[in-house]
Amino acid sequence: MMQFFGKSVYKGITAGPIMVLKNQADPVRRRSIDNPEAEFERVRTAVIQAKEQLQVLYEKAVKEVGESGAVIFQVHQMMLEDEVFLEAVRSMIQREMVNGEYAAAVTGDNFSEMFAGMDDEYMKARAADIKDISNRLIRILEGRTETEVSFDSPMIVVADDLSPSQTVRMDKEKILGFVTIHGSVNSHTAILARMMNIPALMGVPVDLGRLYTGMQAVVDGFEGNVIFQPDDGQRQQAKRRMAEEKEKLHLLEDLKGKETVTIDGRSICLYANIGSVDDIQTVLENDGEGIGLFRSEFLYLGRDDFPGEEEQFQAYKQAAQRMDGKKVIIRTLDIGGDKQADYFNLEKEDNPAMGYRAIRICLKQPDIFKTQLRALFRAAVFGNISVMYPMITAVEEVKQIFEIGREAGQELEAAKIPYRYPEQGIMIETPAAVMISDELAELVDFFSIGTNDLTQYTLAVDRQNENLDDFYNPHHKAVLRMIQMVADNAHKHGIWAGICGELGADTELTEEFVRMGLDELSVAPSMLLKIRKKVRELNITEE
Ligand code: PEP
Ligand code: MG
Repeated sequence: MMQFFGKSVYKGITAGPIMVLKNQADPVRRRSIDNPEAEFERVRTAVIQAKEQLQVLYEKAVKEVGESGAVIFQVHQMMLEDEVFLEAVRSMIQREMVNGEYAAAVTGDNFSEMFAGMDDEYMKARAADIKDISNRLIRILEGRTETEVSFDSPMIVVADDLSPSQTVRMDKEKILGFVTIHGSVNSHTAILARMMNIPALMGVPVDLGRLYTGMQAVVDGFEGNVIFQPDDGQRQQAKRRMAEEKEKLHLLEDLKGKETVTIDGRSICLYANIGSVDDIQTVLENDGEGIGLFRSEFLYLGRDDFPGEEEQFQAYKQAAQRMDGKKVIIRTLDIGGDKQADYFNLEKEDNPAMGYRAIRICLKQPDIFKTQLRALFRAAVFGNISVMYPMITAVEEVKQIFEIGREAGQELEAAKIPYRYPEQGIMIETPAAVMISDELAELVDFFSIGTNDLTQYTLAVDRQNENLDDFYNPHHKAVLRMIQMVADNAHKHGIWAGICGELGADTELTEEFVRMGLDELSVAPSMLLKIRKKVRELNITEE
């Protein structure tokens, strides 16, 4: 048994024999030529032929994965027409009196390296596309045809790397999964794998020399691992999970487009939690009715400096537009605790969960906060955005937040920048906020209960400490009573209350939550339809 981890591109699980694909392209031979014009003419003819091949691939891809997945082959056609690329090939042929294959290979390498060195992840991923088109040109010039990857029975393809064209040429019915050593998750190969709904892992550090075609493997896109030569137990477990996944998929299809309503007519808003705009695709695929928690701090993580107002505005606006009128609740910066970014220069604390974090940072450093609020208020013009504030413990904090928000609005007004004050709510995730939820309800438009933190603060159990897992019990009566109290206080004051912590997706409690009168549940996109199913089976007037 050999186990390796990689970056998962599609969450699915598969098991079966592997097909090992080694990139065995021979080095391109350099030949001297004596008629550069005729040599470049040969390249031009090859370009026309390459475009015809790409058109065939495009048409195949449209049928198999749809227009958006196929568009890469149109992009390749356009890249082939790129005058800068062709001029570089032409000038090398003329300058060095070399053959077209060699000039195309060197130019392809140079362009590809240039893209690979760019900062932007998307542009970086284009390096593979350049390689793909220059290899196609070389093959045509050398009179070779593209190596067909074909097999009689379904297999997991394991390769160094796969080009988009190799990927789409494969018979989708015969591919169980992809595992590659190289490749970016932004590459079109990854996009195609996702569109084909095929479990795929990239960046898997396996030595192809240790594998052989026909060897058994299990690819787990949920855990991001692949097991070669699994034992019987691992194969059985994979089979079981594949059956479960299949069942879930059926469920998904049936429930799309249906309402999240109990048998006796009580409906609940079913929203999704996301960390970035990219997650919206999965929300839409799973028929999310809105976004109940956009963790905006992810925009601030993994970088060297604060995201500016414009960058944030674009992200929030895009979220609003992609959700097309459905509610998008964006939580303001919840940094600190386990979420750290060096440029905030936060001091090391003995007790970070109870430390300088979230709204406390925003209130102490209002400039950071105001930048985010301005971006949010501007984006609110473009869709159904709501804003919510994390880690609230006091009425004064909310008043201070609104004061800073008013200043942000006045600044935009003065600068004649279009904006709108969105619906504003707070997260209820401290026992203090629960206990004064009657007063807080008079100030805000909604409550969203953060059960992850509420559990840790109520039970005095650090949620990050794995030694305390057995004590972290969100089903504790104290937590459930608090949720009830929050829902009651919200309704007494005419506002709505929901849950956006992980507990909202706990199907053992769905009935209880509906009975408590909660108005909304916001869960991971993959849980949306499971919850909808649960709600639709409930009849809460029946005892
Ligand atoms: C929560 O605390 O329940 C919550 C949703 O916020 P986070 O998990 O991001 O702290
Ligand atoms: Mg929280």
